[in-house]
Amino acid sequence: MGRCVLVTGGAGYVGSHTVLQLLLEGFTAVVVDNLDNSSEFAVQRVAQLAGEFGKNLTFHRIDIRDIEALEKVFSTTKFDAVIHFAGLKAVGESVQKPLLYYKNNIIGTIALLEVMAAYGCKKLVFSSSATVYGWPKDLPCTEESPLCAMNPYGQTKLMIEEICHDIHRADSDWKIMLLRYFNPVGAHSSGHIGEDPRGIPNNLMPLIQQVSVGRRPTLAVFGNDYSTKDGTGVRDYIHVVDLADGHIAALHKFFEDPNIGCEVYNLGTGNGTSVLEMVAAFEKASGKKIPLVMAGRRPGDAEILYACTAKAEKELNWKAKYSIEEMCRDQWNWASKNPWGYGLPDPAN
Ligand code: NAD
Ligand code: UDP
Repeated sequence: MGRCVLVTGGAGYVGSHTVLQLLLEGFTAVVVDNLDNSSEFAVQRVAQLAGEFGKNLTFHRIDIRDIEALEKVFSTTKFDAVIHFAGLKAVGESVQKPLLYYKNNIIGTIALLEVMAAYGCKKLVFSSSATVYGWPKDLPCTEESPLCAMNPYGQTKLMIEEICHDIHRADSDWKIMLLRYFNPVGAHSSGHIGEDPRGIPNNLMPLIQQVSVGRRPTLAVFGNDYSTKDGTGVRDYIHVVDLADGHIAALHKFFEDPNIGCEVYNLGTGNGTSVLEMVAAFEKASGKKIPLVMAGRRPGDAEILYACTAKAEKELNWKAKYSIEEMCRDQWNWASKNPWGYGLPDPAN
């Protein structure tokens, strides 16, 4: 039996891709997810894609704030580490409903940490975000760049990072990796798993995807007057499979390096791509025209954000491999095979 990892939020977009990579690497994975923003079909498809390793995957529909339910899982399985994806992530919604975000993300994380400590599992990989850099003055963002939350979602990421630093300061048995993701896009090359957010998507790629399959008429471009190459916002898009592999690299580091404390790593490619460049690359990959509407800037948006990836490359021995063309190819493969994601058309959507 390989090492056993608890994956919170493992039915979600990044979680499902990471669980697949874990299984293929020989790990045993136990997923807990309340399915608030995901489908159990994702877990089933991951098990199928993993072939003979699929038997090493277990799923529990659990809210991580439910301490009793979490304890039940910990009392029957000894975990070597936890990867913590579970959380709400829609920036706009977090501005409208801050308490929902603080309650879910912060209280959920504290519940998880308490149960981990009670059962002596003190290795954690946490999904942080490049959003903690706010609107950076100096680029690329290094792990030492100043931090600034622009909204309650970002605030939850910053707070959880601080909580993690504090528990490690109080008890050095804790080994923690805070992974700051840049912009995950794309899908597994099979086209059987991918991003399928509930409700109206928040991020660029799922919106482009929904326009491409006729679920939306146009894409609104949020601002074309930035000081960038073509006036539109620039981000560091990273293939979700590269991101998933970053988690495997983080786990290996736990098991191989006794000096791990509470560490922060950027997971990005180091390249900046504008909205219009992303649209053009997707149009090329899909052969579909994406009609655009120029809209005003989205409040709180940074102009340019991309990562310095040197630390992860050096210390985790990990580097993103996939190009923007490959990200769009795989996104389209998923979209064209699953125009309605894991579900049937939702009349509310
Ligand atoms: P996602 O919504 O697809 O996955 C999150 C999963 O967590 C969902 O399956 C949801 O049902 C589950 N969940 C939420 N609250 C829960 C709770 N209380 N108990 C149990 N399960 C719960 O999102 P994702 O894109 O896969 O993101 C995963 C993590 O990475 C999140 O923490 C997110 O904030 C972070 N992140 C994502 C991005 C991105 O652009 N996708 C960027 C940076 C950071
Ligand atoms: N964006 C856009 N239209 C949309 C959604 C996003 O023009 O409907 C832009 C957004 O302004 C930003 C980029 O696309 O410049 C990436 O946005 P996303 O929300 O995906 O990521 P984040 O801003 O959180 O990095």
